[in-house]
Amino acid sequence: RGGQTEREVPFAKPGSLTRVYAVASGKGGVGKSSVTVNLAAAMAADGLKVGVVDADIYGHSVPRMLGADGRPTQVENMIMPPSAHGVKVISIGMFTPGNAPVVWRGPMLHRALQQFLADVYWGDLDVLLLDLPPGTGDIAISVAQLVPNAEILVVTTPQQAAAEVAERAGSIAVQTHQKIVGVVENMSGLPCPHCGEMVDVFGTGGGQTVADGLTRTTGATVPVLGAIPIDVRLREGGDEGKPVVLSDPDSPAGSALRSIAGKL
Ligand code: ADP
Repeated sequence: RGGQTEREVPFAKPGSLTRVYAVASGKGGVGKSSVTVNLAAAMAADGLKVGVVDADIYGHSVPRMLGADGRPTQVENMIMPPSAHGVKVISIGMFTPGNAPVVWRGPMLHRALQQFLADVYWGDLDVLLLDLPPGTGDIAISVAQLVPNAEILVVTTPQQAAAEVAERAGSIAVQTHQKIVGVVENMSGLPCPHCGEMVDVFGTGGGQTVADGLTRTTGATVPVLGAIPIDVRLREGGDEGKPVVLSDPDSPAGSALRSIAGKL
């Protein structure tokens, strides 16, 4: 919509009833996108109206994990998002040909996010989840500007080295005056398929370390909302576009994720 003035972001308007959660992590590969799509699918299954913005512009993966293979359509200057499992979703991958990489600088990212928030027809959502890129880059700053009321959900692994980085990503909230809703620890041990004993592949305690650190830096209590074990079914669900909370809701990962969704 070149030349036209930017539309207001509906979720940032005073009195908006949509809860907005920005899912953040320090490093990539900790399961941030997996957590986002499973929370979205669990909430939709509970009857909430849910949307997901894949704001991980360079590493977009949400549509595949959610099995959203539809294309956005345009209706009177608005973009209609495809949906899957009752979740509306928009991703930059839906606008790039094939698997072409997105090679953009900060201002372009901001513009894309602005359009995802304001030019997409979301309807009345109960919850909007934003899958942020890892780290504290341009998109995190843009989210803070465009949706200052977005609450931050930090995903980390149990590893102490990863926790330090995750804490840094969360502490951006101090500068942006955003609330941190809580910490999710992912890949918290692997139940041995033979004896059931937990193998702490990535160590322990990272989630609590991040929560304690962010409680100190923000001055507000930041809880650990839950711990998700390593579970082959979670990975398979992502590959197949059927989130584990739906395909196997009572599996260890499925039930942990549903419990976290219930706290948001
Ligand atoms: P991020 O968004 O942080 O980069 P992803 O959600 O893409 O991370 O997860 C990275 C990979 O790890 C994916 O292949 C995903 O299926 C897998 N994965 C994430 N969490 C788990 C888990 N708890 N158990 C098994 N595999 C997982």
